[in-house]
Amino acid sequence: MPDTIGSRRRKTINALKDAAGDDAALEARLLMCGALGCDELELLFKEKEIIDTDAEEKLDALVERRLGGEPIQYILGEWEFMGLAFTVREGVLIPRQDTETLAEEAIRRIKRLGGGRVLDMCCGTGCIGISIAKYAGAEATLCDISDECLKLAAENAEKNGVSARIIKSDLFDGVDEKFDMIVCNPPYIRSGDISALQREVRREPLLALDGGVDGLNFYRRIKKDFKKRLTRGGTLMLEIGFDQAADIRAIFGHAEIIKDICGNDRVAAIDTKEDSDA
Ligand code: GLN
Repeated sequence: MPDTIGSRRRKTINALKDAAGDDAALEARLLMCGALGCDELELLFKEKEIIDTDAEEKLDALVERRLGGEPIQYILGEWEFMGLAFTVREGVLIPRQDTETLAEEAIRRIKRLGGGRVLDMCCGTGCIGISIAKYAGAEATLCDISDECLKLAAENAEKNGVSARIIKSDLFDGVDEKFDMIVCNPPYIRSGDISALQREVRREPLLALDGGVDGLNFYRRIKKDFKKRLTRGGTLMLEIGFDQAADIRAIFGHAEIIKDICGNDRVAAIDTKEDSDA
């Protein structure tokens, strides 16, 4: 008896149980869509159809990659962030839901200013800066040290109909202008914690994750230079680890801490208006 699409979907959920845990049903749907070349709604309507051999072979190959520990996002080649589609691929950090906290807060503040110039430093896929440009009409500059990231960020800006300036830079080294806001999701995992990360996260570039022995190397480097790159009263907005708020306050002197939807400390906003020397 050949499988229907519905029964193949259920079998795929079972196959993914160990690798995907609570996300098995979602991932099964997404991989089925990938194999069948349809969206989730179409998949629902196809449940009773017999799956053809070509789609079955494609699905088997996708499931095998997933069982081998490859993140679903790299397999699909596209992931959503702030309701926008971003191309993702190996060598570049996958956009995370946690990071939407930073994008949302930045968009809120830029809208309040009525626009402005924003630098997305360590841009990766470009998801933060592109979302801010898209939703707040900001003029976005994206920078990263990785050529792989810069290429992808340019593709993603075009994909989302946003014009962004793209600069190769190791933090501020290649940046020579001023911005109304700097947003940054730097690597902030402690080097010693990397080996304990989920196997999927370990497929992502170390360059985007490893923040040094105490996870704070990049924040210290940013602290040295950020004021030179902000206009008067400008704001630095950083993604931070859930347990790093006190360290961030110690490094920057002051910071407003914003929590993510899970209730964890996730964003530090450092407003230069609060500095007596700014
Ligand atoms: N939040 C990410 C993770 O836990 C880390 C991202 C980063 O280091 N910037 O995988």
